[in-house]
Amino acid sequence: MAKKNPHLNPETFRDSLATVQEDGKRNWVYPKKVSGIFYKYRSYLSWVLLAILFAGPFIQMNGRPYMLFNIFERRFIIFGAAFWPQDTYLLIFLLLIFFVFIILFTVVFGRIFCGWFCPQTLFMEMVFRKIEYLIEGDANQQRQLNEGPWTGEKFVKKGIKLTIFAVISLLIGHLVMAYLVGVDQVKTIVSQPPSANMAGFIGLIAFSGIFMFVFSWFREQACLVVCPYGRLQGVLLDNNSINVMYDYVRGEPRSPIRKNQAILEPKGDCIECSLCVQVCPTGIDIRNGIQMECVNCTACIDACDEVMVKVDRPKGLIRYASENSIKQGFQKLITGRVKGYIVVLCILIAAFVTLIATRDDIKATITRFPGMTYQEREDGKVTNLYQITLINKTFESQKVELKSLVDGIEVELLGNQELILDAQSKFEGRFFLVRNQDEVKVNQEKVKLSVIYQGEELDKIETNFTAPIN
Ligand code: SF4
Ligand code: SF4
Repeated sequence: MAKKNPHLNPETFRDSLATVQEDGKRNWVYPKKVSGIFYKYRSYLSWVLLAILFAGPFIQMNGRPYMLFNIFERRFIIFGAAFWPQDTYLLIFLLLIFFVFIILFTVVFGRIFCGWFCPQTLFMEMVFRKIEYLIEGDANQQRQLNEGPWTGEKFVKKGIKLTIFAVISLLIGHLVMAYLVGVDQVKTIVSQPPSANMAGFIGLIAFSGIFMFVFSWFREQACLVVCPYGRLQGVLLDNNSINVMYDYVRGEPRSPIRKNQAILEPKGDCIECSLCVQVCPTGIDIRNGIQMECVNCTACIDACDEVMVKVDRPKGLIRYASENSIKQGFQKLITGRVKGYIVVLCILIAAFVTLIATRDDIKATITRFPGMTYQEREDGKVTNLYQITLINKTFESQKVELKSLVDGIEVELLGNQELILDAQSKFEGRFFLVRNQDEVKVNQEKVKLSVIYQGEELDKIETNFTAPIN
């Protein structure tokens, strides 16, 4: 038997959650299969987006990944540009731009992202749900199967479904790891015994397990109780934001179609068929207005449009619209608030582009060797020891030179090594500054060092040179 959806009562829907029963147990949502123009276009788009998502880690530029989010080594490659821990300020800028863009997009277009682009919705509705329909049938058949006894048929259906779910979860787990550590590293992890790459192996299993849990059981709860974006809707949306909305002006007072209705008092277009509720993957009734649980999946639009065609009324009783467009009949997209966000976004993008354009390819840091002051040599020279750290952010090997800008002070690299940096690498070395003892005039003097890269001064670094006065 279908459980009564508490949201069908407009007086009490805000006092309860569609997915939680009165005794606190989970109210499992069985969304009815939907078809229609929006579902068709969402399906097409989902295949394109899933193809891009799965191809992402394999896309390379000059042998390097195009996208890499190696949080373990704090190394990121975004659209081919490498970011090091020293570039954290750039990543913070990038995140700020992303957040302001999301806010701006949400203020104007509501949660379109959730329904059309979010990976959770893509996988849940366009992959796992479709497989479930294929194996277990539509909503009523699924409910009967779940509530019925464990027969041979139920074992087979559940077994096949969970096996396929597990395989896809493993695929997604490997995909996420490929974005984090790169495809080559994932290949190494899977081709060697687990003990050879225990951390990587645990990562693969953990991610796969999480996806299996989310898509086979947790489902819409990820959007309702975990996703912070959904929870922000209350502060982001206003009466001009476009959302999936029920046109209550046209739809109310709702009433089932009855014979001789024409002679009764006029009724709204909603015929109370409840199909919009039956297809909703989060179990809500959109006729109660915008709700945090609505992921803008458009299933209710398709379902209602189909009904409207059948009862010979115009489509769009549920449609993309704003509260103002329904209530007052006009739509204003570019409000003062939107203009404000656009200005902030432009400033952030301009600042980010400037920072990227002026970012050094090589980063140099020089510090005195801890615990040492000076050393006196038998040949009458005095030396100070320093540490140099160089980071090559480019994808080519680079040679760097170090020169003293003070007459009489020379740079002497330890072991006479050259400062040659491998691509995308960090180099740590030591060097002496050397001065003739008889030229020392003060105990401590400032020394400027020039870091030269590709024949040009990359950086000028100031340090101290300490020596005794005889
Ligand atoms: S599908 Fe349309 S007609 Fe049916 S209950 Fe929902 S809003 Fe009313
Ligand atoms: S209310 Fe409509 S758009 Fe929102 S989640 Fe439910 S079916 Fe999708």
